[in-house]
Parts: sequence; C-alpha cells; structure tokens
Amino acid sequence: MKIPVFGSSPILSRSAGISRAALFLFSLLAFFFAFSTAFRSQPPTPPPEPDSRPITTHEDARPALQNDRRPDIVLITVECLRSDRLRSSGYPRSLLPNMEHFFSSGVHFRQAFSTASWTLPSLVSLLSSKYPFEHGITRGQFRQEDGGMVLQATIPADLPWLPSVLQKAGFRTFGFSTSPHTIRGTGFERGFDHYEQNLAFKEADIVKQRVLKIREEIRGSRPFFLWLHYFDPHWQYFPKSPWIRNYAPKKPPLPPHLFDMWLHSMVEEGRIKVHDPLFDYLQASYDSEINYWDLQCSDLIREMDLAPNTIFILSADHGEGFLEHQLMDHGNSLYEELIHVPLIIRWSGHLRSRQIEATASLIDVAPTLLSLAGIQEESSFRGLDWSKILSGSHAVKARRIVFSQLSNGPLDLSSAQSSDWKCILDENTGEILSYDRKLDPRERHHPAKQTPNLETRRFLSALSAAKKAYPPATTHPAPRSIPINKKTEDELRALGYVQ
Ligand SMILES: [Zn+2]
Repeated sequence: MKIPVFGSSPILSRSAGISRAALFLFSLLAFFFAFSTAFRSQPPTPPPEPDSRPITTHEDARPALQNDRRPDIVLITVECLRSDRLRSSGYPRSLLPNMEHFFSSGVHFRQAFSTASWTLPSLVSLLSSKYPFEHGITRGQFRQEDGGMVLQATIPADLPWLPSVLQKAGFRTFGFSTSPHTIRGTGFERGFDHYEQNLAFKEADIVKQRVLKIREEIRGSRPFFLWLHYFDPHWQYFPKSPWIRNYAPKKPPLPPHLFDMWLHSMVEEGRIKVHDPLFDYLQASYDSEINYWDLQCSDLIREMDLAPNTIFILSADHGEGFLEHQLMDHGNSLYEELIHVPLIIRWSGHLRSRQIEATASLIDVAPTLLSLAGIQEESSFRGLDWSKILSGSHAVKARRIVFSQLSNGPLDLSSAQSSDWKCILDENTGEILSYDRKLDPRERHHPAKQTPNLETRRFLSALSAAKKAYPPATTHPAPRSIPINKKTEDELRALGYVQ
C-alpha cells in the first residue's frame, strides 16, 4: 500500500484562487529574490512577553439574580489549531502564552479528536453531538449554479442542537463565527438569539470589536452561552508581527500574502520540500497567526470581565497538515495532525486542574456542558458526559474508541482510535492503515501490506457497529440558494470551497 493513498483532494486545492500564469510569474520573481540578497536577514526582536494581567479574577459585583446559580458558558473554537502547538504538548515556541496560562487551571483532554478533518462536519458534530455518519453533513461545498451560489447541504432543523437546547433551558445565546460554512442560511444560526452576520474570514481583532459592541447585553444575560469560532490560523497564512520576525528572521522577497501563496503552491507541486528553509516560512506564518489569535482572544476575555461562575471551553474544528504525510492543509486525510485537537475545560472553583489521557471526542463537548450546567441531557446526544467522570462518580473505559470520517470529493475514509491504537479505512478500496499510537504517535510507520491484526479487526468492527447503531438520523433538506455577497464569493472561490 502506498502511503499517499489518501492524496490531496482537488476539491480542496486552495491554490485555485490564483491563475497559473500568475503563479509562474511569482515563481520567477521569488526564486530570483530568494537566492539573492533581497531575501535578507532582518534583526530578530525579543519575543513578546505574555500579558501578565490575569484574564478574569474580577469578583462579580452585580447583584445576584434569580436562578443565578447556572454558569455562563463560553465556547471558543479555532480553525486548524493543532493539538501539538500547545506549549504543554512540548512545542518549542510559545504560541498561546495567554490562553494556556488562563486554561492552566482547567481539565486538559490530551487525547481529544475531531470527528472530521474539515470544518463543516466537524462543527456540526460539535454542536449536535453526533458522528458525521449519523448527522450526515459530510459534504457541503458551495456550488455555482445559475442564479447564485448553492449550498449542497444545510443542517436539518430536527437535528438536536446545543444552542437550541441551551436556549430552551433559559440561556441567552450568542454566536460569532468566522467560517464561511457557518454563515446565516446554513442552519448554524439555529438556537442563537444573536448570530453575528458578515464575519466570514474576519480576523480576531474584528471578532473582539463585534463582541465588545454588545458586551453589556451579553453580561446582562444570565445565564448566557457565547460561541466564538475563529479563523486566524486557517490558510492563507498572514504572517503576524512581531512574532514572525523571531520565527523567520529572513524578510520575504514579495509582499507576505503573495509570498505565502507562492510558497504554498510550490509545496503542493512538490517543488519545495519539508527540509527547505522556504518551507519553514509557512509554518512560521501559521505559528504567528496563533500568537496573534492568542493575544486578541485573551484581550477579549479580559475586557469582557466575566463572572467567575463561567465555564470556558477551548478547542478546534480540526488540525492542519505540514507534509507529515506528504499533504498540506486539511480535509484530505484522517492522520494525527488533522484530527488531534486541543480540548480544555475551565470552570474556576468547580473543576480542578488535571490532565486526562483517555480518548475524548468533539461530540463529548455538548453533553458534558449540559451536565455541568445542570441541564437535563439531550437523550440523542452520542458523546460522553465527562462531568460524571470528572466528579469521580463514573469511570471512563481505559480504551474508549472514538471515530472520525472524511467523505469529500473522491475521498471516503473512516477511522477508529483509542489513545493507543488507530486504524484508517479507505471505504472505496478497502485499504487499511493501522498504527500503534503508543510507539508511533505521529503515525509515521505503517507496516506495509500488513494483514489486519486482532486489534485492527476489533477497531473496525467497533466502527461498523457504531455505523449500524447510528444510521443517518434525518432527512436532509434539498440544496438551496443562499445570498452571498461578491466579496465572500470571491474568497470562497480562492479557498477552493466552490465547485
Ligand atoms: Zn476548519
């Protein structure tokens, strides 16, 4: 079996936004400059110090309201944020100094996995607590048709939905999402009292401004649920100062966004390899975007000045590839770098700081939050309610198996994994990759032509049983047109989200 069996999806090839001629021109320019003095060193700057001001130590001075025992909830998700970018995971650069400090008093799920490797199915799983094979929202790129843009899948109105459950339970609900997959009309807005418009692709400082505009409304709603979904580390990477000067001391020969686009296309075409210094610039840009997001998001939390009785969750919709398996971006495989995500829950005074090594999934977030907030669990949520385990009243299976799925374009992959074993099944060909995650956590050493061993067969039969137990639950609405302005349409096209 060839390792790159799950090749880059043409549908998600995001160099589509730039013409071949322009790329050729960039190539000539950049190669000329890259090896001339123009690609010159610039003086490194000292790394910025983490903001030492505490994010929330404010004691809530507002009078207690009736029913004030329920906690407020802030759910923060970040596009493409790899689990291994946390300093606590051993990454040498400090990319999230403020947020990691803030969440250091929380419960850190060190083996948390997304249910998919791209935004739409993953975020639907997060809010519906169902695996993609059950909620069925596995495809959904925008398609250009006569008369406008068509969404190929919208979220069924009868799919259990965390914001709706919280709204019914008396929470005021606020949503700020920067992903184009979640714009109004997709169904993501269901259950939100306030769902911010026109945030697709916006940077974290814009999100901060929009949230702070209605800060008093949010703070005055007790309890409230606030979902913040950030776009910053998503390609195209816009290198952020001052961090980029420390991570990539050489100044690029083109404006950073053009240089990033050119580098990306060269990598995708195999003309720049992983050990090339030019390749480092891509990772440095990605890393600097995380630093930027960390600063903006922690500023926002500080300025919100929320009550201590607030549950905070930090996670990501999926990771990002940097040629670990000859692939870039995301949505093109189910390897570790694409589905291992951060997951930390902080509830000051209620949850103590600890590390969880058992396997967790994004589908666990909704039932755990409901339970922590004292709301009766939505019975069709499939995730694990970790509150019972965190309180010590229940034990988690040491070898819990969780699932992920990628059905996109020609790809149809499923995976099943615990904290120590994983297999990926290519549903089209029947090919199986399996990994001993204890010995090989980066999934580098798949034994070629291996006959599935007992462990792999056990995981595959668990996957098959879950699919049988949870068949697609709803009838999906027909594709429909939604209004998208020209600028958003152009950006969607540049990212390869339009077929
Ligand atoms: Zn995403």
